[in-house]
Amino acid sequence: MTLFYIIIAILVISFVIDQILDSLNAKHFNDPLPEEIKDVFDEEEYKKSQRYKKERYKFGILTSAISLIATLLFFFLDGFAYVDNLARSVSNNEIIIALVFFGIIMIASDILSTPFSYYSTFIIEEKYGFNKTTRKTFFFDKVKGWLMGAIVGGLLLGAIIWFYQSTGKNFWLYAWGIVTVFTVLMNLFYARFIVPLFNKQTPLEEGTLRSQIETYASKVGFTLDKIFVIDGSKRSTKANAYFSGFGSEKRVTLYDTLIKDLNEEEIVAVLAHEVGHYKRNHIIINLLTAIITTGFTLWLLSLFIGNPLLSEALNVSKPSFHIGLIAFGVLYTPISGITSLLMNYLSRKFEYQADNYAKNTFAALPLISGLKKLSKNSLSNLTPHPLYVFAHYSHPTLLQRFRNLKK
Ligand SMILES: [Zn+2]
Repeated sequence: MTLFYIIIAILVISFVIDQILDSLNAKHFNDPLPEEIKDVFDEEEYKKSQRYKKERYKFGILTSAISLIATLLFFFLDGFAYVDNLARSVSNNEIIIALVFFGIIMIASDILSTPFSYYSTFIIEEKYGFNKTTRKTFFFDKVKGWLMGAIVGGLLLGAIIWFYQSTGKNFWLYAWGIVTVFTVLMNLFYARFIVPLFNKQTPLEEGTLRSQIETYASKVGFTLDKIFVIDGSKRSTKANAYFSGFGSEKRVTLYDTLIKDLNEEEIVAVLAHEVGHYKRNHIIINLLTAIITTGFTLWLLSLFIGNPLLSEALNVSKPSFHIGLIAFGVLYTPISGITSLLMNYLSRKFEYQADNYAKNTFAALPLISGLKKLSKNSLSNLTPHPLYVFAHYSHPTLLQRFRNLKK
């Protein structure tokens, strides 16, 4: 019973912390723009960006409040015990029971969240001119997401429970092994096998942009034969670029929206930033950090998973791996909160390093003007609260990056 209330307290406290951070951040929505980045918006665009921020903020309060209420109701009304019984009526095999159990939970929570993501895409993003998603794409994205989740999640979970049944407490080592193999494969082949399910990628065509990129790449001694353009415009006008894979699988992906919005020099600067991530080993460090965190989480899970208190807390009489996993998942949130703070901190450090790399090997000015355009076109918040940045931002703010690049 105590454990039950600890779980409820964790859910409520993390909601309250989020709300405090959000409202602190919202208090600065109307701040005057810092002098150095004043030119991002004209008067009218700035007003528009403020409306957008406020609308997103209100919508965020609504969705997180409803999600908290739904979760609490589920806990108080013994929803997990109910679904557990339902799953047990399907099979006697613990692995199948767990898969059915999580299948039901996932589908139910997806059904609950779909109206909100629909509203977010087709009402809010649409109103500000960001949305390019058709209802058909939205629907098929959902279906593909479900299928992928079922196959990938199902296989991994099935394997982990099987290890648990056959090796007991040591299962976490085997689970860690299989999750590591999976993570590395995903890192290598995500762009090649998963992205095509959702987007079209084409090699960047010959022309001045490609030759400028190649000139830059050879100057810094970087083999970059895989430059792809992805049809991000299929879903949104917001632009992006990213680096993925390593070794011979490394590639740079540019959104078609980025190519449309930025001039060639700015695109090369953004690309130089991405090359900086690679050159400073950020890709490998991030991968290693993810692997180590997974190992730690699984080890911790192995200490608790056999404890019947976890299932008792959820009012389930028969202890099982999947019920233990749910209880552990909530109990783990304070720790994952801390790890995500650390990861964001590290990520912001890496962004500075990548910016510096672009500055030193290419130029600072086109990167600045490119970043400004990206902020303008996504109606970014240019005056976030420092605590909010500390907790949630994986990138430094535009102002911080501007000042660093100007140094
Ligand atoms: Zn970056």
